[in-house]
Amino acid sequence: MLPIYRILVVSTPIGAIGSGKGGGVELTLTSLVAGLILRGHKLTVLAPAGSTLPVDCKGAHLETCYGINQDSWQHNHSLDSITIPNNGILPRLWSRALQEQERFDLILNLAYDWLPLWITPHVTVPIFHLISMGSVSSVMDQAILHLASWDQRRLAFHTKAQASDFELPEVPIIVSNGFNLKKYDFSPDSDNVLGWVGRIAPEKGLEDAVLASAQLGMELKVWGLKEDASYVAQIENLIPSATINWQGFLPTVELQKKLGRCHGLLTTSKWNEAFGNVVIEAMACGVPAVVYHRGGPGELVEPGINGWLVPPDDITGLIDAVSRIRDINRFQTRSWTENNFSISNFALRLEEWFNLGLN
Ligand code: UDP
Repeated sequence: MLPIYRILVVSTPIGAIGSGKGGGVELTLTSLVAGLILRGHKLTVLAPAGSTLPVDCKGAHLETCYGINQDSWQHNHSLDSITIPNNGILPRLWSRALQEQERFDLILNLAYDWLPLWITPHVTVPIFHLISMGSVSSVMDQAILHLASWDQRRLAFHTKAQASDFELPEVPIIVSNGFNLKKYDFSPDSDNVLGWVGRIAPEKGLEDAVLASAQLGMELKVWGLKEDASYVAQIENLIPSATINWQGFLPTVELQKKLGRCHGLLTTSKWNEAFGNVVIEAMACGVPAVVYHRGGPGELVEPGINGWLVPPDDITGLIDAVSRIRDINRFQTRSWTENNFSISNFALRLEEWFNLGLN
């Protein structure tokens, strides 16, 4: 008999689930909850007030608490100290989690933050951490290293590129990611437009996609939360206004409908992105991806099968790869995601990780 676990998933303290503030972690959370429920596990999600879960997570119990959001480490300087706002949501979530710990066989932490990592060796309930970013701060590097030296089986990463940012004593556990592919309709045809999806923030490198699209004379549809207003203004000043078509932040069901009409997705990250959900989401609609060969997205493209890899920061390379998108079969692109990124495959990898860490 396979073990059935009672699992508490503690969400990111950056924002409510469904707000978009938590970036890819929000979708990762819903995928892993839906997948683990299908495997028979008992799931509770603890998240900031205002959070909602999609229908495929309805078997999970959602508990919420109030508090001030934590700033993302990603927007701090690498040598910054730990700061927790007054009435911060992070300690409130963890205080609740620890009060309730006896109800669970394990806690899965999705916060990229110091506090849950630090407490792990000091509490009875096993806490597992799915690390959602690469190295962005020395405090966090130390916290991850410290926990890894105590028991690295409690840590997992999305991609090898992400894990390579940390000097880990053992070979890292890579669980990749998973997607409820039923939510993404395959679109055999496309319009003559390119797509770009992500938080509108400097590390995402939207400017390169905009410059490439302008030179190609193609419209670029952009979906995502405008996280940094001055960065948005900078981009708008860069090129003729007809190039960018701002689409705002859409829930998955609407995003995929529109994304599916794109000829290709451009992913032009400037940092070591941990995974790159939007690459797989586009491919799930049959949209080939043209991505910089950097970080997680660089591990998700098989050139000629589901898109093209371009040397980082090479705008001419982007332009050349866009002209070769027509050589990629959209149906094959979709099938590739089914073979590699279903929520059931993801749940199996998570289960293996828990079994290893609990023994
Ligand atoms: N996203 C969305 N609607 C939008 C734009 C983005 O739901 O209009 C979601 C997208 O589905 C993805 C996340 O935002 O899950 C971005 O995650 P990614 O891993 O690409 O980057 P991160 O923001 O975590 O750096």
